[in-house]
Amino acid sequence: MGQFSERRVLVTGGAGFLGTHLCARLLRDGCDVLCVDNFFSGTKGNVLHLFANPRFELLRHDVTFPLFVEVDEIYNLACPASPIHYQVDPVQTTKTSVHGAINMLGLAKRVKAKIFQASTSEVYGDPQQHPQAESYWGNVNPIGPRSCYDEGKRCAETLFFDYHRQHKLRIKVARIFNTYGPFMHRNDGRVVSNFIVQALRNEPLTVYGSGKQTRSFCYVDDLIEGIVRLMDSSDSVTGPINLGNSAEYPVLLLAETIIQMTASRSSIVLHPLPVDDPQQRQPDLGLAKELLHWQPQISLQEGLQKTIAYFQQILSQ
Ligand code: NAD
Ligand code: UDP
Repeated sequence: MGQFSERRVLVTGGAGFLGTHLCARLLRDGCDVLCVDNFFSGTKGNVLHLFANPRFELLRHDVTFPLFVEVDEIYNLACPASPIHYQVDPVQTTKTSVHGAINMLGLAKRVKAKIFQASTSEVYGDPQQHPQAESYWGNVNPIGPRSCYDEGKRCAETLFFDYHRQHKLRIKVARIFNTYGPFMHRNDGRVVSNFIVQALRNEPLTVYGSGKQTRSFCYVDDLIEGIVRLMDSSDSVTGPINLGNSAEYPVLLLAETIIQMTASRSSIVLHPLPVDDPQQRQPDLGLAKELLHWQPQISLQEGLQKTIAYFQQILSQ
């Protein structure tokens, strides 16, 4: 695992939720880290604590424009991940995934860097196969409100595999399932942070639809370990590989659990289900176990405790 390796690593989207954790992890591993972000859904405040490390650099840049830097590895995370954020400017979302991938792949080709892509379980759309294995091609609406994200990420995967076949690039593609933890923005809009913030404020928890739809929630530390293992795996391991937690929960049960864990006085209110909201989602983690010897270690209870503690702290400021 490259302890004190002096690798020069570029992390796009490095000031976002996952990017912040990844930059911190890579610094702990002794890498030089260049964090690139346009602060669309991430913040400078997230990475403030990393500035004390002289190996850390931050650059404001939009990945839809070319970037020329000398690096050994690229983690391409730039893209808003929360539906409310990626639907604000859907054209920019597709551009970020597609032009961003083209620019980062072009850079990787030029400097012969290994490149990781943060793909998503959304490439499976509203899946008709359960749990979802990497061999499943998905059930995606190409023209709906989620399509800018889903199809942008699918096109990015296509580009990664074409650069791999055509230009022999070393690629690593992870399909990330719902992940949560500290450094999610308080207004992120995704379900775990929404429910925790609402519960801590004793406001009603907003369950969309009946709440019977399911998701599988992975704590961020587990995910980051999986991402780093994938990047460090042998060149023959390209992915796509599912990374997430296979424990599946209905959204309503998540709301009840968070109310109970925060001893909140909140009620639960039902709102309409957003268009094309997938009914169920659970990763088949067989490939990750086999190729990366990885599986999540942190239970939902334990992960929620840490995340609740984080939000208690930032909401009291
Ligand atoms: P996030 O929104 O917190 O972080 C994304 C970061 O990318 C932000 O800092 C944002 O400012 C930056 N960004 C957006 N557009 C950019 C652009 N054009 N140029 C430069 N920077 C840009 O989301 P996250 O949860 O940290 O997700 C990180 C990556 O992982 C995303 O690519 C997302 O699609 C993927 N992913 C995340 C999850 C999850 O559950 N967290 C699940 C599947 C996939
Ligand atoms: N959701 C909800 N209330 C919220 C936010 C989300 O019930 O305040 C639901 C949403 O409709 C979806 C699930 O929780 O069924 C996960 O939503 P999220 O936006 O976190 O991620 P994604 O839909 O991309 O998996």
